[in-house]
Amino acid sequence: MKYIFITGGVVSGLGKGIVGSSIAAILKSFGVKVYMKKFDPYLNIDPGTMNPIEHGEVFVTDDGAETDLDLGHYERFIDVNLSKNASISSGKIYEHTLLMERRGQFYGKTVQIVPHITNLIKEEIYTLDADVDVDVVICEIGGTAGDIESQPFIEAIRQVRMEKGIKSVMFIHVALLPFLKITNEYKTKPIQHSFKQLLGLGIQPDIIVTRSETEIEKKLKEKISLFCNINEESVISCPDSESIYFVPQTLYNEKIHEIITSQLEIKITKPNFSWWEKLIKNIKEATNNVKITIVAKYFALKDSYLSVIESLKIAGFATKNNISIEWVDAKKLNIDNYKQELKNSKGILVPGGFGESGIEGKILAAKYARENNIPYLGICLGLQVACVEFARNVLKLSNAASTEVDINTKNPVIDIMNGKDKYNIGGTLRVGGFNTNIKKGTLAYNIYKKNVIRERHRHRYEFNNDYREAFESKGFVFSGIYEEGNLVEIIENPACNFFIASQYHPEFTSRIGKPNPLFKSFVSAVVKYSYK
Ligand code: GLN
Repeated sequence: MKYIFITGGVVSGLGKGIVGSSIAAILKSFGVKVYMKKFDPYLNIDPGTMNPIEHGEVFVTDDGAETDLDLGHYERFIDVNLSKNASISSGKIYEHTLLMERRGQFYGKTVQIVPHITNLIKEEIYTLDADVDVDVVICEIGGTAGDIESQPFIEAIRQVRMEKGIKSVMFIHVALLPFLKITNEYKTKPIQHSFKQLLGLGIQPDIIVTRSETEIEKKLKEKISLFCNINEESVISCPDSESIYFVPQTLYNEKIHEIITSQLEIKITKPNFSWWEKLIKNIKEATNNVKITIVAKYFALKDSYLSVIESLKIAGFATKNNISIEWVDAKKLNIDNYKQELKNSKGILVPGGFGESGIEGKILAAKYARENNIPYLGICLGLQVACVEFARNVLKLSNAASTEVDINTKNPVIDIMNGKDKYNIGGTLRVGGFNTNIKKGTLAYNIYKKNVIRERHRHRYEFNNDYREAFESKGFVFSGIYEEGNLVEIIENPACNFFIASQYHPEFTSRIGKPNPLFKSFVSAVVKYSYK
């Protein structure tokens, strides 16, 4: 087994995840079997309880882990299902260590960061599911070199290199190369400092990926090479890119794969780049502009909806449409302004969300889509608001609500699932992949063309089956059901051209070149019905 560790330097938010995913995708094209992992220095057990505005989207794996959003990039780029053991936080490591301590499993020893925490980190690095066949594991270390929090991880990877040797372990440092406008030049000093931080912790990077605004000149590479003790070819330029999907090609042109495969002595086959050639062709040929309105509430950080955005883009590439997203703040929509605010919408998407704020605005967005026959895709909360809207305005149950926001409602059309409570919030959602049986003759069946599908979930509330008949009597269709629990998974309204919503999150299963069917058909429906 070979290991590549990716660290970040100077600032966070450089796209280490994209660099790692791109390296993995390049290696995969050469026939190398890759797997990816993310190590996060924060103390939360997982990001499930974190505010999306602070941390971005919570990505969900098929086996039910709530993970960092970088796992979404990994899955989309390399087209594999990652598992619980692909996302590890300090919190998880410390929890495990302290439980062992309470059970007396350290046999009277003083429990310390080194070796106990670092040993557990190494165990996580080495652990792989029994059914995965892998040549190279690419591990991204969250945070920035020099952070207090990430030091145990850096120490652990230093030990991994000691244990496995230079031919099995590689360090790639992704660092900011800032451009100074005043002097009109790039400045390498921050990279030199960040390199020194790592060196002080015993890590000599094998490759430095410079993140800069534009491509860099040879003399800068020479300078970084000299100061950071690496070959000039090992300084890889990765300038800002129009699309994250161009990054594999950039890194390939810089020949990063040659350095990796030669140091790690990895056998490669004749590369197959057809997937990304096709992708780039589709991106370049996507000239038809398609506008999608997302009615959302976690505004301060668009990363809160990362997989939704990427799924729309991927669906756009596959159908040669250039998606532009228009954001509408659900919290600002009210009965007096919603028609005006949504009047230019060509397609409305209501994504997932938690809690009370913005919910009335989302209900109004579903109302607007239904009444004006605008293609609608609801995701999780987007299904729930579509049901509340239908109950209020078609079934005339004016007090219909979800018990998530109104515990005493007389018409709880959305209610908490059996066995769930809303007080113990960490790790208690219905989360991960479950099967949905699809009814023949419905829009959902037409989209998936399958009797049974598997999609990923993350919720605590559900459609209340006491209301099913009343909804059906007015033409509402429950086209997807999780049979074991008799839970509603897909709803649709055949009175509209395209009005569909899922209780699951279709955005977690889009892959490059393989958009999730719901997204693909939504984009096609917007083109068909709104751009006639
Ligand atoms: N808050 C809703 C629930 O818990 C919807 C969750 C979501 O949109 N992911 O059921």
